[in-house]
Amino acid sequence: MEIVKVQDLILTRLEKNLLGGHSAEEVLGTWRLQATLASEEEIYTRPDISIYDRLSRDVFFGAGFSEEFIDKFFRPFLGGIFFDTKLKTSAREFEFVIRMLSIGENCLPEEGMQKIPNYLKSLLPADSVRLNTQVKSIKEDGKGVTLSSGEFVAASCVVVATCGKMASQLVPDVVSEMQEPKKTTCLYFAIDGKPPADVPTVFLNGDGVKDAQGTSTINNVCFPSMVASSYAPEGKSLACVSLVGIPDQQEDQLVADVKKQLVSWFGPSANEWKPLRTYRIPFSQPSQEPPFEREQSVRRKEHLFLAGDHVETASINGALRAGARCARAVSDFLLPSLVQLNKEEVRKYAREKGINLSD
Ligand SMILES: Cc1cc2nc3c(=O)[nH]c(=O)nc-3n(C[C@H](O)[C@H](O)[C@H](O)COP(=O)(O)OP(=O)(O)OC[C@H]3O[C@@H](n4cnc5c(N)ncnc54)[C@H](O)[C@@H]3O)c2cc1C
Repeated sequence: MEIVKVQDLILTRLEKNLLGGHSAEEVLGTWRLQATLASEEEIYTRPDISIYDRLSRDVFFGAGFSEEFIDKFFRPFLGGIFFDTKLKTSAREFEFVIRMLSIGENCLPEEGMQKIPNYLKSLLPADSVRLNTQVKSIKEDGKGVTLSSGEFVAASCVVVATCGKMASQLVPDVVSEMQEPKKTTCLYFAIDGKPPADVPTVFLNGDGVKDAQGTSTINNVCFPSMVASSYAPEGKSLACVSLVGIPDQQEDQLVADVKKQLVSWFGPSANEWKPLRTYRIPFSQPSQEPPFEREQSVRRKEHLFLAGDHVETASINGALRAGARCARAVSDFLLPSLVQLNKEEVRKYAREKGINLSD
């Protein structure tokens, strides 16, 4: 898989006056220290308080950031990551993400996010995945599923790898109703020519987004085609505009509201940006508000397993980790019966061939 790096995503572009007196270097330094001083495991033993409580009271050796700094920088920045401008998400998740942003590299798959599931699917035997096939219910003992077509598919065990909300509907006696999931709306625009940025940059709304959830107020804007040129045809650029929550406006009104803001951010040329698609995403992330446990159990009944970001952390990393943990649990469960099956196959083969086997 081709991966393209994002150059120094945000901090080089932030101006000092946006940072309420703190310099970008101070913030970056604090983050890097947080990242290097604590192991991943240690982060998840820290107090399970909200991001806001951590940032305002105890970000570093008892010192907190000013309200201005939190409003102008952290609310839109973390609003774009957790879809939560109120900063109620667990500070443990915040520190985990900051750690990853500090020690890892920001990237996009060159041919889009779909490349990730496509790659995983390419490792599986042909015809082992059925797409566009909705599961309506799961057999109580976990030994099969009924599809929305009415077809029953028997199985040795079932792994429920949907979002948490759907998991709680499919197996209500096993997965309790989760807190309200986080929502987001993404609007994509085509730009003729270059975007209004010199290097890949995330533009944040520094005007105060605390109460913007569910409105047409822009939270952040970026230009993915600056990171991976395959995200736009030759000579064009792609703009991605993110809102936190889902506004009520009809499509035309929403695009008009957003365009008005884009013009104030980037000048009159934004009037020429062509709306491509709007995605209103009701289950963008599971809620990760305290009390928050990083690792939920993946085996819920003898034949019923859970995977997905809601049993770990709300990220691709979390979804992959949950998948790996679940796969180990399933193979531990199935292995003894597979070994037994294999023994029987060998005995049958030996009988057919007239071979004498001692057990
Ligand atoms: C706009 C946006 C931006 C994001 N950006 C990032 C990012 O930059 N980095 C990052 O790490 N994470 C990001 N995330 C979060 C990340 O996308 C998720 O954490 C991750 O995709 C979760 O993977 P999953 O396999 O748990 O669930 P999903 O990817 O939601 O997969 C669940 C699957 O279950 C299927 N399903 C649901 N119900 C049924 C049913 N009844 N029968 C059959 N199938 C069903 C769904 O169709 C879906 O295909 C972002 C999320 C959004 C919305």
